[in-house]
Amino acid sequence: MPSGKVHDAFNLALLPLAILTPKPLEPLPLAMGYIVGTMFFSPDLDLSKSRAAARWGLLRVLWLPYAKVAAHRRISHVPVLGLILRTAYLCILCMVVLIFLIACGVNIRLAFHGALPRHALSFIIGMLIADTLHIALDALSSSLKRLMPK
Ligand SMILES: [Zn+2]
Repeated sequence: MPSGKVHDAFNLALLPLAILTPKPLEPLPLAMGYIVGTMFFSPDLDLSKSRAAARWGLLRVLWLPYAKVAAHRRISHVPVLGLILRTAYLCILCMVVLIFLIACGVNIRLAFHGALPRHALSFIIGMLIADTLHIALDALSSSLKRLMPK
């Protein structure tokens, strides 16, 4: 299994290729999503001690329940589904915080303007590409290990 350092280096080396996307996507939000996906939203958040988890600083405790439930290299490492799961998990945590703040009397207004803006879509696609490359490198590493004589 590649280390977090190798994953970071691999993904960041491929960032220029990831930015070369079809025209409807915007390069800057895509690059930002790619970097966030690589550094903070990695499939390895299914480990309580990973580089991605450490980057959350004190907030890494938020990912401990996720790491406890999601066994390493299982659902978190399924392309698309793992990213959706981590996003849903974080959204649920944010909702809990919002509900708490609203219950405390904080005036919060949320607005959703219908269709997903193009830059948000580009950001998400960037995260998805980073996620997929992480999973592909894990799979490649496992395959190579199996081929190596013991
Ligand atoms: Zn991994």
